Amino acid sequence: MPEVTAESLRSAAEQLLELADDVEESIGAREDLDAVIADLRIAAVRGFGPKPRARRGESGKDKVLAHLMAHIGEWVHREELAAISGIEEWARRKREWSREEGYDIEERGGFYRLNNFDPDESVARAWRIPNEIRRRSGSGESRILALLQAYEGKVVDNEKLRYVAHIPSAPRRTRELRDEDGWPIETHVDDPKLKPGQYRLASSDPSDRRDIRQRLYPEGLRERIFQRDEYTCQMCGRNRERAEQAGDSRFYLEIHHLNAVADQLDGLSADELNDESNLVTYCHRDHLQETRRLHERLREQRRPRS
Ligand SMILES: [Zn+2]
Repeated sequence: MPEVTAESLRSAAEQLLELADDVEESIGAREDLDAVIADLRIAAVRGFGPKPRARRGESGKDKVLAHLMAHIGEWVHREELAAISGIEEWARRKREWSREEGYDIEERGGFYRLNNFDPDESVARAWRIPNEIRRRSGSGESRILALLQAYEGKVVDNEKLRYVAHIPSAPRRTRELRDEDGWPIETHVDDPKLKPGQYRLASSDPSDRRDIRQRLYPEGLRERIFQRDEYTCQMCGRNRERAEQAGDSRFYLEIHHLNAVADQLDGLSADELNDESNLVTYCHRDHLQETRRLHERLREQRRPRS
């Protein structure tokens, strides 16, 4: 049996890699081969140390990136990367290098692949704001709000919210910001163009906060009313598109109750509250105005006649 050297292991891995390229079409076979290749490379690294390319004094990250670059476009097993660098938390690291520096690193069942030598500036830019907010102190909820405010009027997905909040239940905290603090955070219920798991803060101006009694209307009911009214304000006839064209980027929809003003809603039974014939879609501004008008009329009625 020939002596096992780093060179013999590496050259075996190289030969297998060439074979592997031939079986690219058959996914299962390719994965099996990749695993064998990874084993060989791990044996080479464990037994003989990393390739000379990774110099002493380099950080674990530099070693991993150098190794991935030496095998650009190839799947490398995380065990192999761990043996080189001593780094174990792969999911987090991959996220950091992809998001903070824009490296195009793919992950598949424990294998990692670097697709490009040069990091993508636009990816790094897209994650710069979330990265900055993620490092802030304070509650997870305050970081979620900061992110939504930084992206006012734009879609933010769960992935970014979870990333900045780094607490469990980021989606629940996001809903609390809406239902308890009244921030006009839209979901797919408010705008069918949003997908589940996507959010958009319509306005970060505190005076545009919605009436928290909006939370009295269940989500399913809100969606039915908005759908029925075609996501269009029944007072001014604007939908989001028309409002944006007219320069109002802080447009959002609310449910208006035709028979009751805000503080009366609390006293209604569920049937009275949810009777769809009493509910209509208004934009936030018209809802506010209409509510003021109704309050004035009520005050007029209550004023004692002399
Ligand atoms: Zn309106």
